[in-house]
Amino acid sequence: MAPKYVYFFGNGSADGKSDMKHLLGGKGANLAEMTNLGIPVPPGFTITTEVCDAYYKNNKKYPDGLAKEIEQNLSRLEKLMGAKLGDPANPLLVSVRSGAAASMPGMMDTVLNLGLTPDAVAGLIKKTNNERFVWDAYRRFITMFGDVVMGVERHYFEEILDAYKKKARIKSDTELTSDQLKKIVEEFKSVYKKKTRENFPTDPKVQLQKAIEAVFASWNNPRAVKYRQLYEIKGLLGTAVNIQTMVFGNMGNHSATGVCFTRNPSTGENKFYGEFLINAQGEDVVAGIRTPEPIAHLEKEMPAVYKQLVAYKNTLENHFKDVQDIEFTIQENRLFMLQTRTGKRTTHAAVKIAVDMVKEGLIDKKVAIARVNPSELDQLLHPTFDPKAKKQIIATGLPASPGAATGRVVFNAEDAEKWALEKKEKVILVRKETSPEDIGGMHVSRGILTTRGGMTSHAAVVARGMGKCCVAGCGALQVDYKSQSFKVNSKLIKKGDYISIDGSTGEVMLGMVPTIEPGLSGDFATLMQWADEARKLKIRTNADTPADAKKARELGAEGIGLCRTEHMFFGECRIDSVRQMILSAPDVKIFKAKIAGLEKELQKCASNKTDALRKELMQVRKELKEPMNLYTSALKKLLPMQRRDFEQIFTAMDGLPVTIRLLDPPLHEFLPQEEHNQKDMAKQMKISLKEVQEKVSALHELNPMLGHRGCRLGITYPEIYDMQIQAIIEAACNVKKKGVAVYPEIMLPIISTVQEFDLLKDSVHGIAKAVMQKKNAQIEYLVGTMIELPRATLIADKIAKQAEFFSFGTNDLTQMTFGFSRDDVGSFVPEYLEKGILEKDPFQVIDQEGTGQLVEIGIKKGRSTRPQLKIGICGEHGGDPQTISFCHNVGMNYVSCSPFRVPIARLAAAQASLQQPISRATV
Ligand code: PEP
Ligand code: MG
Repeated sequence: MAPKYVYFFGNGSADGKSDMKHLLGGKGANLAEMTNLGIPVPPGFTITTEVCDAYYKNNKKYPDGLAKEIEQNLSRLEKLMGAKLGDPANPLLVSVRSGAAASMPGMMDTVLNLGLTPDAVAGLIKKTNNERFVWDAYRRFITMFGDVVMGVERHYFEEILDAYKKKARIKSDTELTSDQLKKIVEEFKSVYKKKTRENFPTDPKVQLQKAIEAVFASWNNPRAVKYRQLYEIKGLLGTAVNIQTMVFGNMGNHSATGVCFTRNPSTGENKFYGEFLINAQGEDVVAGIRTPEPIAHLEKEMPAVYKQLVAYKNTLENHFKDVQDIEFTIQENRLFMLQTRTGKRTTHAAVKIAVDMVKEGLIDKKVAIARVNPSELDQLLHPTFDPKAKKQIIATGLPASPGAATGRVVFNAEDAEKWALEKKEKVILVRKETSPEDIGGMHVSRGILTTRGGMTSHAAVVARGMGKCCVAGCGALQVDYKSQSFKVNSKLIKKGDYISIDGSTGEVMLGMVPTIEPGLSGDFATLMQWADEARKLKIRTNADTPADAKKARELGAEGIGLCRTEHMFFGECRIDSVRQMILSAPDVKIFKAKIAGLEKELQKCASNKTDALRKELMQVRKELKEPMNLYTSALKKLLPMQRRDFEQIFTAMDGLPVTIRLLDPPLHEFLPQEEHNQKDMAKQMKISLKEVQEKVSALHELNPMLGHRGCRLGITYPEIYDMQIQAIIEAACNVKKKGVAVYPEIMLPIISTVQEFDLLKDSVHGIAKAVMQKKNAQIEYLVGTMIELPRATLIADKIAKQAEFFSFGTNDLTQMTFGFSRDDVGSFVPEYLEKGILEKDPFQVIDQEGTGQLVEIGIKKGRSTRPQLKIGICGEHGGDPQTISFCHNVGMNYVSCSPFRVPIARLAAAQASLQQPISRATV
């Protein structure tokens, strides 16, 4: 059977349906579905995404047979409509629109009113008896065709239009008379000719063919490419092209066009939401050029049409069981639905809608859990403005996308990117209206503020999609791009000044307004509870401070999976003691070795030689005294500080397990590198600057990440680990006495051999026993290991005989598997991603093919000798939804992530468990 490239819809039946999005694009598939549902959709046909794919694969040539299929479908459409493209007596006008399987609002191109020629204009005037409307449609067509198809920049046309309005002293396009519009059309044609060196085409078939080509070409325009990159849209064939009979919202005061959502996409409230413009075409609403009226006003203006619209929106939401984003046009009191698609919504709205729809019986809990993107949940944890803060409100616009943003004002996307990326400034992008070209600047801005456009303007839709705070249509602001400033009342705000905007109230405020942390309550808490019922993985947190531990617990953490003890050492009053400990440790070691050697010799040697040896021994002991004092005094200072840290953390996590990792990082991270710090150390240690510098350089390593770190430190300088173990067990005993249920899990880092683990485990048990005896207490504790090295995964069966738990340190495991230095990936990984060598940054999303395989080997081997081995992950990947799904599948017990990612992990774990059963091989 010959392939089918074109799908017709109209007159109550369609060739396609809604599950054919991959082939017909979202718009085409849903136009077909609406037609099948008996909803009034202007008839038309869709050219498939396969054609777009073939077009790019075959050097911009269309597949054989396409032209014929288009011809046949056009004839069918003409017959159905009783009008013909270009017919001077009864012309058919069509729209040509893009539409890929994934919604990319405003990113690709659209041409409306196609088919207008001088003959068709005359015919249409006769037919409609509405000259003004026809000239208005023609000038729009020339603009769109010129811009989209021929690359004549829009502003050339807009300048002419503005000049006419200025001359006529009118503000709105709708006030232009047909005579004026007629003249405008002539001027538009001249501009077109000047810029393209061609006459504006008068053959509608040529117009159609060029417009189709332009839509296909728009698939790869820079903004569409950037959008797909930003939203990680992959694996699509391309865009479809929808050719659809035009209906007109600009036929006078009984015509209108609008965009609506079945529920409020900003708050999620179950209330019909949207806006419309009388006597306008769709582009006017979406582009935000005129500020539209709220949809509720339509009830007063056209009650019968409004009733119909409400009925259709209900049908659509019940049919698709999700919020619909609908475009409609009213042509002389007749309602037509032009599009329906799943409504983009803020995360706040997504959660509310999911929970409400379960309560309404529209969907079940499983669907609700799947409806919310876990990665976006942290938006709900963003701060809001402190209600107690003093606010100097200078204007109020529309609350288009919630959030609290403070930043410096910039007036174009380029500056936004420059300031945010290069200067690391927080910026607020202020525009009259945004356009798809601004997408990069919007992405890096804290918030977006526009002076025109409504709740469905480009700025509002894109900001909501990005989860970015946006205040739209703030008409009180007079923006002047030339002087890079805006005026509001008598206040002048210049580029670089600070403002704050509240996307939930629409308020624009002067300066920086303080914010407060939000909590986890209401619908968010309900969804989290459903997620907890569904998930198998436990969720722990990576926390090094009592405050982090407390926050994580509030957000649902079920324990600490990684407490990095070295982070506790960086505090102002501690770093000096740590430095002192490190700088004196090597000397202590050398002298201790010397003493041991001399003592051995002394035991063996003849009595006539002992005097000299004894003397030497005394001398060495004397020399050791100084560094030993420094070393032990530093450890003595650190012990109570660590003990206090642990007491606080255990208390915050009362009843939950706390995994504490002993000192891990390369020593150079602690060494005083700057001269003024070295001088400080010299003073404190009562040695010369030169001596400090010599000690620093003796500890220098070429490859610190592969050097003297992790358990290697614990083995060479055992006193450091001993101090930490003592602090942990003493803290546990102390809090236990106060009634805290404490479950410490002591974790050894960078283990690569069983011998390392054995040695250190023995000292943990030795010290723990002594402390518990002294304190007369009994603590249930575990000793386990991080699995961070490929070798450890390969001998995991042997390690697991000794270790009571494993925690995959996938930061180091990724580093060691790829051989990519964690600290240096910035210089090449971005290019690897761009060139497609890597699909994702392996330090953010686990590389399942390589690193993941080692994880699986480690789990399998580990459980082969200890079937109940508790296994988790504590690398940064533990908070990434894709990695969490992997962790679920390979049978881990828990993931551990930073406190603010805990809700993300809870939801991602639930989604993973609802999608796939746990893999048998690994459990
Ligand atoms: C890891 O390597 O994954 C890990 C958690 O340890 P760190 O990042 O502290 O090296
Ligand atoms: Mg590590």
